This record gives sequence, C-alpha cells and structure tokens, in this order.
Amino acid sequence: MSKNLDGLTITIVYGDRRDIYLAKKLIEYNARLLLVGFDKDELRFSFKEMNKVEFHNDLIGPAKKTDVMVLPIPGVDSQGFVKSTSKSKLYFNDEVAMSFKPKILVLVGMTSTYLLNLKEKYNFSLIETAELNDFAILNSIPSAEGAIAKAMELTSITIHNSKSMVIGFGRVGITLARMLKGLGANTYVAARSSEQLARALEMNCHLVELEDMDEKLPEMEIIFNTVPSLILPRQKLKLLNRDCVIIDLASAPGGLDYNAAEELGITAYLAPGLPGRVAPVTAGNILGSVYPELIVNHISKGRGGVTNVC
Ligand code: NAP
Repeated sequence: MSKNLDGLTITIVYGDRRDIYLAKKLIEYNARLLLVGFDKDELRFSFKEMNKVEFHNDLIGPAKKTDVMVLPIPGVDSQGFVKSTSKSKLYFNDEVAMSFKPKILVLVGMTSTYLLNLKEKYNFSLIETAELNDFAILNSIPSAEGAIAKAMELTSITIHNSKSMVIGFGRVGITLARMLKGLGANTYVAARSSEQLARALEMNCHLVELEDMDEKLPEMEIIFNTVPSLILPRQKLKLLNRDCVIIDLASAPGGLDYNAAEELGITAYLAPGLPGRVAPVTAGNILGSVYPELIVNHISKGRGGVTNVC
C-alpha cells in the first residue's frame, strides 16, 4: 500500500512531543500540514521543513480546510478539552465538528462517549487507533521500556532476580513480560484467559490464574498492571509487602485503589502516555509508520466504508 499523501491536507492537534516526529513523517509523504497547539520554538530545533506547515491556535480554522484531523492518543475529555501537554487550551466541540468539510477522517488513539456523540451528530469518520493491533503492538515497546525505567527509579532493588508480576497479558503485558525475562526477573504473569496463560508458559513465565492471585501477591516486589479495570482493590493491596512497587499502565483511572494504596503506604504509580514521555522519537515514528497507510486505505475505500471505523 502506497503511503503517498500528496494532495491531502492533514491537521495534527498537538498531544505530546511524539507529534513533532509524526509531522516530519507526514511531510516526507508529501502531506500539507496544519499544526495546532505546537510550540514553534521547540519545533525549530527538530524540524527543517518549517515552510511546509501552517500554524494554528485552535481547531476551527483547520476544520474548514482539512481532509484528515489527527487528535492526540488520549483523545478529548467529556467537556471537549483536548488532552494535550500544549500550553494552549484546545477544544474539539460542536463548533469544530460543524465546520468540517464532508467526508473528513478523524484519527484518535482512544475515543470516548463525547467523541462518539459528536461523530453521530455530524457524521464524520472516526478511527480509534490505539485499538489497532499493528499500532498497539509497536507502541507496547516504548510503553514497556518506560514502565521498567519507572520501576528502576522507584525501587531500591534490581529488576534482575526480582519477583515481578505482570497483570494482564495482552499487547503491553506480553512485551513487558518478555523484557522482564530478558533482564533476569522472576516473571509472574496473572491473566484470566487460558490462551494467554499458555503463551506465558511458552515464554517460561510463572503462571498465576486471576482467582489464585491472592496467594502470590505477598511475595511480589514489583507489579506491573495492564488491566484497565479495578483489578487491585483494597483487599488485594492489603496482601502486599509494603516495599512492593506498583506501576500501573492501564488507561485512566488505572487498575487499583489509589486511596487505599496511599493509606497502606504502598508506592503506586499511574503511568499514562509513556511512549510520548520516554521515547518521543520512536513513538512518533511509530505513528508515522501506521497513520499514512491508514489514511490512504480509508481514502482508497471511498472515505466511508472502512472497517475499524467507529
Ligand atoms: P489488551 O491487549 O487489550 O490487553 C489487556 C489485558 O487485560 C488482557 O490480558 C485482558 O484480558 C485483560 N483484561 C481486560 N479487562 C480485564 C478484566 N476486567 N479482568 C481481568 N483481565 C482483564 O490491551 P493492551 O494494548 O495491552 O493495553 C493495556 C492497557 O494499557 C490499556 O488500558 C491501554 O490503554 C494501556 N496503555 C497504556 C500505555 C501507557 O503509556 N501507560 C501505553 C499503551 C497502552 P482478556 O483478553 O481476557 O480480556
């Protein structure tokens, strides 16, 4: 599939530093770019093609002339506020959606009821990219590295020879367990699916069925959670050693009772947006490798009848 974006106008709404490298990639593929919420000074250091982009401070102007709008991976909150580290406050609201050209495509990492309602009301195509396997698997690499780096920072032991548990064994969990094994950790995998536990066994990890987790929790020194629901409530946290460190990668609000963790004196760290924070170049290049094909694919299918479109 060609990645040539010649003739297309693409808006990137700044989420974090990975969007700088996404912009560079899209320019390589000949897109015309409208950049919203970017810091021009920061961009100058990493960006030679300043003449090929137009800068904006809100989404309304770009909405009128763009073919594709790329929102940050975490998306938009229930008030329409774009989840971004930009200094500007950016809104994706009725006024923006009302201004869209027909057949516009919106890409967002994680969608929300708010975005889905706007999509229904104004009939634009929306793709939730974080759910696409090719993106999620590649993105799990900087996520897992970032989580392990945070664990190194918050513990006073080595990962090597530690008792480390990964809860949830999907795209991120598998990558994490593989890296932990590589570093010499005693790696425990807790999951509910027998298929996932079979894969963990093949990787020579220790298996923990979710219903048996209570027996193993007291031994753990580091826990990495990837389950996006309350998997570690107060009664499970009570079983942990007070020196145990929890790194919670699950999307907000995370997978544990943070009030209980604080009361019990357990270090628990919610770690959102790791790829953009620890490896913006790699993470931006991952976006740059996946998004052009997604866009070209969407357009070649007539801008409407695509699978994976919400
Ligand atoms: P995934 O492939 O869907 O894997 C999720 C895992 O959690 C699966 O093993 C799934 O089991 C399990 N799970 C889900 N709900 C569960 C429940 N209620 N009880 C028990 N197990 C449950 O997802 P992923 O791509 O690995 O991502 C995991 C999380 O990390 C997501 O919230 C994602 O948004 C987040 N994430 C965060 C970062 C970051 O920087 N912090 C980066 C990437 C992803 P089943 O298959 O049996 O459902």
